[in-house]
Amino acid sequence: AKAAGGNRFELADPEADARAITRHGLTTALPTALDRGEFFIEYQPLVHLGDGSVRGAEALVRWLHPQHGVLSPDRFIPLAEHTGLIVPLGRWVLEQSVRQAREWRDANGGDVLGPLRINVNLSPCQLTHPGLVQDTVEILERTGVTPDALCLEVTESALIGADDDLLKPLRRLAEMGVDIALDDFGTGYSNLANLRRLPVSVLKLDRSFTQSMQQFPADPVDLKIVEGIVSLAHSLDLAVTVEGVETGAQAEQLRILGCDTAQGWYYARPGPPERLHELALVDATG
Ligand code: C2E
Ligand code: CA
Ligand code: CA
Ligand code: CA
Repeated sequence: AKAAGGNRFELADPEADARAITRHGLTTALPTALDRGEFFIEYQPLVHLGDGSVRGAEALVRWLHPQHGVLSPDRFIPLAEHTGLIVPLGRWVLEQSVRQAREWRDANGGDVLGPLRINVNLSPCQLTHPGLVQDTVEILERTGVTPDALCLEVTESALIGADDDLLKPLRRLAEMGVDIALDDFGTGYSNLANLRRLPVSVLKLDRSFTQSMQQFPADPVDLKIVEGIVSLAHSLDLAVTVEGVETGAQAEQLRILGCDTAQGWYYARPGPPERLHELALVDATG
């Protein structure tokens, strides 16, 4: 009876069953979802902690599945990575987002908002794909967006122990003026001294740090840790962005600790491009 245990529990768990069926369905539907136009992008503002102005947005992809409705990226990005769809999907997200940044700029006669920057997530599979640099250059040229308006986010874990071959395309992009952000920073176990050899200009502190600022005042040890990371980052000329800011108390403590930019529900949930534009406009005109 004991030997059958594992299986029996799986079969008796209708939720696990449903998940497995859905996963199978998603894997089947995924390869053609891009051609069917089922993906769309939401934008979440990046806010300057010093003056509260909207400086840009992160592009976050969603899948409008005909049966399951809107699926979050956690449901399908791993599948896309597994099946290789992530390369064309990632390229599509990059092109759409950069195009969107161009539209925001044009909608304001080029200047009213200042340059809104666009952050786009890169999967590790895209990093090792030989077309990355050329695709990015072509997209920027086609849309007439300057490289300094683009920030590519790469997770810390993707770069842990990265050798020179992996870093080469990122270096090329950084030399062109594209910002590279280290996403989910603090969740991996990277050697802080290692930061020096990575072509990054932004640290995105993982949400877990923001969560530790929920109490006011926050735990003194947590405060010290964030303070240390921020001062190290600044001494290496890296800007610090915090994610997952849900309350004013968090925003205030992170601002005092010297973080530069914030993102989170406290400011706005991810939303359609018009929403970002409105937020930035309200902000610029007072
Ligand atoms: P991420 O890059 O760490 O993105 C931040 C996630 O935190 C987003 O989840 C965002 O909606 C969520 N978030 C923002 N503010 C708050 C907040 O105040 N509180 C909380 N609890 N959450 C907040 P989302 O949109 O579900 O995306 C999940 C992950 O999927 C992203 O994590 C990113 O790793 C990945 N992803 C999203 N779009 C893309 C893409 O185009 N390409 C690739 N490769 N990955 C993507
Ligand atoms: Ca990100
Ligand atoms: Ca992140
Ligand atoms: Ca995260």
